[in-house]
Amino acid sequence: MLIHCHRCQANNVYRYGKTPAGHARHSCPASLHVFQITYIYQGRNPDIKG
Ligand SMILES: [Zn+2]
Repeated sequence: MLIHCHRCQANNVYRYGKTPAGHARHSCPASLHVFQITYIYQGRNPDIKG
């Protein structure tokens, strides 16, 4: 599974623990951006946007 940084689109992000809600977080070494991946696990939700 390829994950791209939301800020710089780099694909060499690494896992950075979890949020309190249990969503995986990732960190990008290029832009030092930390973000959580939620849309992947909610892919079957027709209400998801973006
Ligand atoms: Zn980045």
